Amino acid sequence: MTTFRAPKGTFDLVPPRGEVFLQVREALVAPLRRAGYGYVETPTFEDTALFERGVGGSTDVVSKEMYTFVDKGDRSITLRPEGTAGVLRAVLEHGLHRGPLPVKLWYSGSYYRYERPQAGRFRHFSQVGAEALGSDDPALDAELIVLAVDAYRDLGLSGVRILLNSLGDATCRPAYRTALKDFLAGLPLDDATRARAELNPLRVLDDKRPEVQELVADAPLIADMLCEDCRSHHEIVKQRLAGAGITWIDAPRLVRGLDYYTRTTFEFQHGGLGAQSAVGGGGRYDGLSETIGGPALPGVGWALGVDRTVLALEAEGVEVATHRECQVYVVPMGDAARAWAFDLVADLRRSGWAADQVYGDRGLKGSMKSADRSGATFAVVVGDRDLEHGVAQVKDLRNAEQTEVALDAVANQLIDMLTALKERQP
Ligand code: AMP
Repeated sequence: MTTFRAPKGTFDLVPPRGEVFLQVREALVAPLRRAGYGYVETPTFEDTALFERGVGGSTDVVSKEMYTFVDKGDRSITLRPEGTAGVLRAVLEHGLHRGPLPVKLWYSGSYYRYERPQAGRFRHFSQVGAEALGSDDPALDAELIVLAVDAYRDLGLSGVRILLNSLGDATCRPAYRTALKDFLAGLPLDDATRARAELNPLRVLDDKRPEVQELVADAPLIADMLCEDCRSHHEIVKQRLAGAGITWIDAPRLVRGLDYYTRTTFEFQHGGLGAQSAVGGGGRYDGLSETIGGPALPGVGWALGVDRTVLALEAEGVEVATHRECQVYVVPMGDAARAWAFDLVADLRRSGWAADQVYGDRGLKGSMKSADRSGATFAVVVGDRDLEHGVAQVKDLRNAEQTEVALDAVANQLIDMLTALKERQP
């Protein structure tokens, strides 16, 4: 028989690491909720054309990395490689842009790119994303950066650097693009890079190969060619960040992999991840709505990689506090005791406490081992003979002290003790 494995470039999340992922995702989201971002969920697949137009046909994401297939209704469908295009599509479809602006949204889920798998680069990965639509106020660009920094800080991650750039807009970028193209045309580039320089010259600046970096060292920079509006927008973003006590690195060659960015672009990088150093990134995309057939609707957003954030935390040796799985562990010995134990566990859970029990016939020794392993504070041991006497044994697993408690008082006594413990916690 064939044994199946998770597809290449994917991995499973199993306990206890699965719980860490969940906590990290929640921590990345928490600052957004405090800032008025509302939850949006869109399908994991969309019409292929949405990404072709939205993300841009000249990007690696669209030209090489999409999971595209024809469905049984003869439609070309693509598993989403990123979140912004789908969210903007939903905003337009539901007319959210006709309500109060800005529309602030967050989301979280699975994304798919057919990339060459390596450490930190997967074919199925998880992101938390945020978008603010309908305003070109630079305060939103700065707000999003601050919210990401807050999330990293709350997680205890200290090694994140912020790279910041402005890519200009429809007024100033065309002249810059031409200047850059002219400059690149004079360089001894290999054929593939030359083709890219023709199609998407800004991407050449982003080429990680040292020999290309050396060649483009003297390339013209967008920072020197920004129009007045873009320059003042960028200044205000920086003022807001400085006001919030945030330090960043000016990165005049930061381009990023998606075509829709205008003005502010940024990336969050971490040194502990090897080649795939970006833990998150984003920027402004003021022309994207028109590109996918909508009205003029400025927007700014980011996506933070959950997988890479977990890797960065592991690289820094930061422990993520996970919820305690179990508070009471119940060990019934005998059939009548099992029925009583089942009810006790259900009662405790309904009252909001984490309770578990031993299943099957494990014997007292094995069951007490499971009780210890569960991390519970209290164990309840009850045999059929206890039941006949109307009692159960409640054991404090921290000091092995055992007391006999009347059956109908067990649940309340446990709840009192757990409540007292909780109140004593800092
Ligand atoms: P992007 O949409 O490319 O700007 O990606 C945003 C963030 O998602 C990145 O900074 C990464 O943290 C994460 N990410 C993107 N692609 C992958 C991938 N193939 N595997 C794991 N994480 C990824």
